[in-house]
Amino acid sequence: ADRNPGQPEFLQAVTEVIESLWPFIERHPKYAEHGLLDRLVEPERVVMFRVSWVDDHGQVQVNRGYRIQHSMAIGPYKGGIRFHPSVNLSVLKFLAFEQTFKNALTTLPMGGGKGGSDFDPKGKSPAEIMRFCQAFVSELFRHVGSDTDVPAGDIGVGGREVGYMAGMMKKLSNRADCVFTGKGLSFGGSLIRPEATGYGTVYFANEMLKTKGRSFNGLRVSVSGSGNVAQYAVEKAMSLGARVITVSDSSGTVIDEHGFTPEKLAILMEVKNHNYGRVSDYAQRVGARFEPGVRPWHVPVDVALPCATQNELDVNDAAALIKNGVICVAEGANMPATIEAAKAFEAAGVLYAPGKASNAGGVATSGLEMSQNAMRISWSREEVDARLLQIMQGIHAACLHYGKRSNGSVSYVDGANIAGFVKVADAMLTQGVI
Ligand code: NDP
Repeated sequence: ADRNPGQPEFLQAVTEVIESLWPFIERHPKYAEHGLLDRLVEPERVVMFRVSWVDDHGQVQVNRGYRIQHSMAIGPYKGGIRFHPSVNLSVLKFLAFEQTFKNALTTLPMGGGKGGSDFDPKGKSPAEIMRFCQAFVSELFRHVGSDTDVPAGDIGVGGREVGYMAGMMKKLSNRADCVFTGKGLSFGGSLIRPEATGYGTVYFANEMLKTKGRSFNGLRVSVSGSGNVAQYAVEKAMSLGARVITVSDSSGTVIDEHGFTPEKLAILMEVKNHNYGRVSDYAQRVGARFEPGVRPWHVPVDVALPCATQNELDVNDAAALIKNGVICVAEGANMPATIEAAKAFEAAGVLYAPGKASNAGGVATSGLEMSQNAMRISWSREEVDARLLQIMQGIHAACLHYGKRSNGSVSYVDGANIAGFVKVADAMLTQGVI
């Protein structure tokens, strides 16, 4: 804590991982040697930079940009770019740290990184968004590259923003290689990448349910968020027969006891994906109830899929879900449950998957995008989707393997942390003290 003052999210993520790894490390002391843990909690490089740009009124705006290059032990740094006013060093360091283990879990050769800016895209014109993206890349470009660091999207950064950043990157580098994933299909993007995190989260939850002889069919599901991850989690859960009852955003929660339909989802996408619309407008359009300032967790469900942001589900929310009989919680977002909430789920015997396992489908498909770009080919939707499913099943199997407790129950938290750690740590030990 002394080394990282004012970085609560980073300390939270490190605490969660180290606490869960500790018994394993005690059984395998080689992982406590060579300063391995001290090195692992220190990003290899942190870049902070000024982003100045001119708004539509001719005023100069100044934001702060970041790229955290956490670990290159198993491949080029890889992780998304987030544009949100809450972005700071602590949030991005936590995300880059988590990303390192998540990427290892996918089994693809990707290291961990994360970046972003405190820029708030809400209320900005399309021209301002483009100018900001270009200004951001005018510094970022010297730190990234197809074999160095390959960013993607995250909160506030979707296909449009990736397009502007990849375009500026090409102009500055005079190269067309794959420096961003999540690109448009016309210039090297992969089919299924937009869907991948949401689909992958549901594939993972489905594997969890199978261990109890259950499936999504007929289950009540709550989803939080209404952005990229949430939308495709809704779509996949619905297609597996679940009744999805909630979505939310930073203004409140929509509760719809009739459940989502493909038509309602199309309306949600129309509202949210243009000009940062509000779920309250969506609720009005489909005649559903909107509860302002409230999160979805008081609604009784069988499965909860938090897909918005970090620390959006606290120990009281966990208690409400448990009391209402939730059987499975799979995180689409990164660290949406607080440490106490996660512990409460595990103590109550709820199937609980941390984001680094259940939301790894997004970065896995980014890895598949990198492979397709390197081979200069593109795979069909079916092929990418099949690989995504296979990767999620592989991560689930790894969690079972490393997370089995002596009483026969499974801790997905321990499983994911240990499986990711072993791969990164073994690579680091082999490569010497660097
Ligand atoms: P989007 O920007 O598409 O959507 C974010 C959603 O979360 C919006 O509904 C937004 O509401 C809500 N949200 C954001 N911040 C807050 C907040 N402070 N309080 C309440 N709601 C909030 O982002 P994504 O869907 O891409 O990302 C969602 C989560 O999934 C993040 O944790 C991200 O790191 C994680 N993730 C994303 C991946 C991807 O491939 N995109 C991959 C793996 C993880 P509003 O519109 O009101 O801001």
